Amino acid sequence: MFNEAPVQSIALHPNYTTAMLRLDLLHAEISGNKWFKLKENFALAKIQGFNRVLTFGGAFSNHIAATAAASKAFGFESIGVIRGEDADLNNPTLQLAVSQGMQLHLVGRDQYLLKGDSDFIQNLQHLYGSFYLIPEGGNNLQGMIGCKDILQQNTFYDYVFCACGTGTTMAGLVAANTGAVVVGISVLKGRNQLPDEAQRLLNQAYPNNTFHVLGNEILDREFLNQHCILSTYAYSGYARYDEEVVRVKRHFAEQFAVPLDFVYTAKLMLGVQDLLERQKIPVGARVLIIHSGGLQGNPGFEARYQAKLAR
Ligand SMILES: *Cc1c(COP(=O)(O)O)cnc(C)c1O
Repeated sequence: MFNEAPVQSIALHPNYTTAMLRLDLLHAEISGNKWFKLKENFALAKIQGFNRVLTFGGAFSNHIAATAAASKAFGFESIGVIRGEDADLNNPTLQLAVSQGMQLHLVGRDQYLLKGDSDFIQNLQHLYGSFYLIPEGGNNLQGMIGCKDILQQNTFYDYVFCACGTGTTMAGLVAANTGAVVVGISVLKGRNQLPDEAQRLLNQAYPNNTFHVLGNEILDREFLNQHCILSTYAYSGYARYDEEVVRVKRHFAEQFAVPLDFVYTAKLMLGVQDLLERQKIPVGARVLIIHSGGLQGNPGFEARYQAKLAR
């Protein structure tokens, strides 16, 4: 059902050997890192005797799309609790989710914030019956542990770069402990978006591993020599329109035939390019860049920013 994710070498800078792990090619619908965050959750759901999963996400969420497709593939019923009563059920993400058999449950933005409360969960259990709960984005212990496997066959690198939202994927890459320094590029703007939960999960399960969150101070350092998430490449913020993002996406399609997504991997590449340019890692380093997928979100992004993209 799954393809082997190829490692594609891409010449980004004469001083470095750079390659990209194409997790976007793993599966047509179960995209990239989201599969790694889901696989241990589905395994546990099965062991615990559930035949139904429930999870949370925004109207364009890669996690919702991947959970819907994985549920269908593994014979689970699925329910997606979607942020926003006004979410467009005809958008490509939600259409895909429904086509995979996911039942959608739209809630208002204020109510969505209560998604961790036991009253809220109990109410959902009354409506849908018992379910295995996967948190938004697959951000739990099983999610992190699953992400360790991303690096299974890729232990020959000095640096690993990935895009970060919750930081769960990053935590898994750090936990894999391959000897590489892991650098995450955050797509969330602002210091209030720190990946506290991912850091907590990592410290709990692997007390000897940790990562830091760094801002502009990185530019004063000589080298990136410890695991860190950089908050300096988020541009206008999560899923916003930025010209640089559109430009780098076009460049990668033309130059390397690599499709990037607007929300995560395009910002990842802006970050990687800048850091190589500034020589923030030692000359000669072997670099692996994780393409975490997310391409299902592109049509939705293009529809939202149609006017700007047409300019
Ligand atoms: C969700 C997602 C991420 C971020 O993963 P986290 O574990 O939340 O940090 C990165 N890239 C893509 C394409 C994603 O869909």
